[in-house]
Amino acid sequence: MPGTTETPGAPQAHGPADSEALATLHRVFGYDAFRGEQEEIIEHVVAGGDAVVLMPTGGGKSLCYQIPALVRPGTGIVVSPLIALMQDQVDALRALGVNAGFINSTQDFDERRVVEAQFLAGELDLLYLAPERLRLDSTLDLLARGKIAVFAIDEAHCVSQWGHDFRPDYLALSLLGERWPDVPRIALTATATHATHQEITQRLHMPTARHFVASFDRPNIQYRIVPKADPKKQLLTFLRQEHEGDAGIVYCLSRKSVETTAEFLTRNGIDAVPYHAGLDGATRAAHQSRFLREDGLVVVATIAFGMGIDKPDVRFVAHLDLPKSVEGYYQETGRAGRDSLPSTAWMAYGLNDVIQQRKLIQSGEGDEAFRRRAQAHLDSMLALCETAQCRRGQLLNYFGQDPDPAGCGNCDTCLTPPETWDGTVAAQKVLSTVVRLQRERGQKFGAVQIVDILLGKRTAKVIQFDHDQLSVFGIGTDLDEGEWRGVVRQLLAQGLLAVEGEYGTLVLTEASGTVLRREREVPLRKEPKKPALPRATGSSGSAGSSGRGKAKAAVAELPEELLPAFEALRAWRAEQAREQGVPAYVIFHDATLREIVGRWPESVAELATVGGVGEKKLLTYGEGVLGVLAGLKTPTAAPAPTAPGTGDEDHWPEMDAEPEPEDWI
Ligand code: ADP
Ligand code: ZN
Repeated sequence: MPGTTETPGAPQAHGPADSEALATLHRVFGYDAFRGEQEEIIEHVVAGGDAVVLMPTGGGKSLCYQIPALVRPGTGIVVSPLIALMQDQVDALRALGVNAGFINSTQDFDERRVVEAQFLAGELDLLYLAPERLRLDSTLDLLARGKIAVFAIDEAHCVSQWGHDFRPDYLALSLLGERWPDVPRIALTATATHATHQEITQRLHMPTARHFVASFDRPNIQYRIVPKADPKKQLLTFLRQEHEGDAGIVYCLSRKSVETTAEFLTRNGIDAVPYHAGLDGATRAAHQSRFLREDGLVVVATIAFGMGIDKPDVRFVAHLDLPKSVEGYYQETGRAGRDSLPSTAWMAYGLNDVIQQRKLIQSGEGDEAFRRRAQAHLDSMLALCETAQCRRGQLLNYFGQDPDPAGCGNCDTCLTPPETWDGTVAAQKVLSTVVRLQRERGQKFGAVQIVDILLGKRTAKVIQFDHDQLSVFGIGTDLDEGEWRGVVRQLLAQGLLAVEGEYGTLVLTEASGTVLRREREVPLRKEPKKPALPRATGSSGSAGSSGRGKAKAAVAELPEELLPAFEALRAWRAEQAREQGVPAYVIFHDATLREIVGRWPESVAELATVGGVGEKKLLTYGEGVLGVLAGLKTPTAAPAPTAPGTGDEDHWPEMDAEPEPEDWI
């Protein structure tokens, strides 16, 4: 391993990397041990090596550059595109006793001068900069006059021109290696694809960097994709049944649906705010800040929201529209559960999603190559939605990693395996209807009309076009409307049918012929009448956060009798956070509060052994925490056994066909 060879007596100011790094982990961050590859990465960078780190959100990337910055002499320069989050990042570090600062456009001249002076005096452990600032000559000159411990390039996938987070200023970061050949660089991202990985390495000019690719599994996130019927209502039911009072993000495709969904949730008693690029900067900042600071706010957003949000206790991410790619889906869902506690990634998906996305690609900008790539991304996303196999397995396969062949046990398809059926004849019926309309009438129609014809419905439009005279009229009464829409959706997803033009009319593809000629079978997933719910094992009956049913929640669920103490500590924390104007998690994470109530420390020394309680926090909050506990009754009862499912399933709305937003012709 480069850089970690033992060289006793070597004149290294920072001594053996591992022990000092570990000591820093204990002292500053209050953690026992490194996770996964953190230790190797940190050793490598402390010893002066470059590194490219691919690690999922919540994997613990920050420590990989924060500890080298603390251990090596000089200041760690962190390049981050997220100006709006710098203040919070710096606040969180200061709460740990780390001297951190930032320079960005939100500061006035004097504030900036103070930070610059601190940097030049060697007083800063970490300095956060946006790439557009870093590339300025004035900034480069400033950096040249101080001592730099390490360059950390966070959200390094922003250098990729194909991703939706592309930032041209990231390209200029390749100069860091030329100007500071002796300063190690570490590029970090949670984007896992091979192509992005290659691009980061090339564009940042890091040919000799060591590469660290962590497992992209997020076992605490439960993945679920349900058939879309009445999405807002389904969302409300999901939130009420499983995430009452929890913080979470709801993603929608359009600004309008962001607005209407946020209003709908608010009307129904759920604290929710909108976030999209059409809102003015002040409103956006205010909503983001509330999300970070308050316990249990829901943000309804377009993809403009979320990158770099390091709020650890986001308990769910919901999608009301289909993401454009598996990468996007993974990034967005990855914002749930950074603290490793049970969390849910929930999505409602239906026929209109497929039609809409296919139309968007066709009518969108970009050349043929761009369209093909977008199409391929969408196809992978659709395959994930339609799979009858483990969702996590499919995700990991997508990122080139090996899943557990037995399934994960924490996704909807593992928890409630979907039934499949031989849909060959049904597929032929759909395709023949499309063929007949085109050959016999020279017409193209959308899904609604095709399904009406199959069902033999004499709607106004069917009569208007004489479609009841077609030989295929009424040949599909064996399935209901919802099932037919499911068939059409799956044919679209499998590329056996295509969407065309502004109205999303259905047309055949090259592959359609193989079905019509009976050269292949078409296995389909059965459309559930009710969406699958996990077989809950969490505690039941009590209100609030303990009432959630998640397969793996039992491990992290608190015994009933500890809840009052947990809530008391949360209230104390909220008070501290308000007084100091920082997010609650900057004081202590939920995971730390849970460990505190579980262990019930009676002295400062005992409290110091709890994960997440470092030197500075012990000093600042130790007495406060012990005071809260002392005011409560020590729980003596044995942990309550976990109850089986609560029968919540019965409250799900019946799944009828999805409402059609507009006529397709
Ligand atoms: P990322 O930047 O990769 O999304 P973070 O650096 O924010 O992840 O870390 C995710 C969470 O894990 C944070 O709450 C952090 O405090 C915690 N964490 C990171 N490393 C460790 C560790 N070695 N031991 C315990 N907790 C850790
Ligand atoms: Zn699974």
